[in-house]
Amino acid sequence: MQTISLLGATGSIGASTLDVIRRYPNDYRLVSIAGGRRVEELADIAEAFQVETVAVADVTQLDALKAALAKRNLSHVEALAGNDAMEKLASDKRVTTVVQAIVGAAGVAPTFAAAKAGKRLLLANKESVVCGGALLMDTIKANGATLLPVDSEHNAIFQCLDGARDDARQTCRLLLTASGGPFRGRKDLRGITPEEAVAHPKWSMGAKISVDSATLMNKGLEVIEAHWLFDVTPDRIDVVVHPQSVVHSAVVHEDGSMIAQLGATDMRHPIAYAMGYPKRLDAKTERLDLARIATLTFEAPDLETFPLLKMAFEALEAGGGASIVLNAANEIANAAFLARELPFTGIARTVRHMLDTFKAPAPTSVDEILALDEAVRAATREAIAANPSLRTE
Ligand code: NAD
Ligand code: MG
Repeated sequence: MQTISLLGATGSIGASTLDVIRRYPNDYRLVSIAGGRRVEELADIAEAFQVETVAVADVTQLDALKAALAKRNLSHVEALAGNDAMEKLASDKRVTTVVQAIVGAAGVAPTFAAAKAGKRLLLANKESVVCGGALLMDTIKANGATLLPVDSEHNAIFQCLDGARDDARQTCRLLLTASGGPFRGRKDLRGITPEEAVAHPKWSMGAKISVDSATLMNKGLEVIEAHWLFDVTPDRIDVVVHPQSVVHSAVVHEDGSMIAQLGATDMRHPIAYAMGYPKRLDAKTERLDLARIATLTFEAPDLETFPLLKMAFEALEAGGGASIVLNAANEIANAAFLARELPFTGIARTVRHMLDTFKAPAPTSVDEILALDEAVRAATREAIAANPSLRTE
């Protein structure tokens, strides 16, 4: 029996995870859940899964959470609030497994907490790998934690590498597939609305990652994530656009042989794989019918129109704090676009501006990571306010 803490329970990955847990009540027990601020949804999940603890990040929502629990006769359920509560749940002795599905750098501290507590860590929150880098991988190793990637590309690579010899891991190349997002093939990205950007052609996901998919920043973050998870140098990571999203990624061996993982476009599949590993758990997702799909296509990414992917490679090569600058600037620009304060094309311009102007050495502790993230956020907000050139198409 695995006992689980699900962070980001009210999100898209959260919902898919709950669906898999629901199918295997004898193997998995949900002990605690956490979310940003939607307390009614949290209380509904608490009721459905009979959890012991519920946490909400927004401290102003604690009373509302308690009331929502009381309304469902769940006053005995422990209610917590604030960022510290996320770390508490991630390191809780009652759980063997932490599913980390918080969005953004808010996930950094809980990811480190789960790593320090030696948990089985099912990680969807890619931003914590991008920010945590070598320090996170060292913390995982030093504390005997097990990292199982949930991001579909990394889950695919993890499956492709399973059983590969160490020397093969040191010479292989990684091929990350990208759907290309809703604006694939377009050369002019002016005038794009948030509604158009979040309407992803293949995946149904939270708003932030949907916008990241539309700018290709998501693939950039995933390149950095792959570098740290699999210890592969940036020159051995390639990206190919594959609009059908059937091939989830591949490993290319020294002799040119390519091992790929294919599956339905459904996050319950990688989640179930991570939950069951090393056994396979059937999430009852749709089976692939290759004859019906008939055609799989591939093309090179358009780095001119979608420069954020190139900037991610650049940040990774630059080292130091550059990946944290890239991620924090993107989070602020992404949110500003969703709030209609920045045009779509302003996201890439803002990240470019921040990479050029904000230089920082590699942080050596979690506190330093969080401080750098905060400083870049503040500087990015200031830059957007002060530079009309970032705000006009
Ligand atoms: P989402 O926006 O649907 O959900 C985010 C969740 O995080 C919500 O439950 C929200 O309440 C919670 N949250 C937000 N701020 C928080 C905070 N400060 N503290 C605690 N909880 C907080 O996002 P999503 O699409 O589910 O994505 C979650 C993560 O998984 C992201 O890092 C994303 O990149 C990654 N991911 C998602 C998908 C996908 O298909 N959705 C695929 C691969 C990776
Ligand atoms: Mg992905």
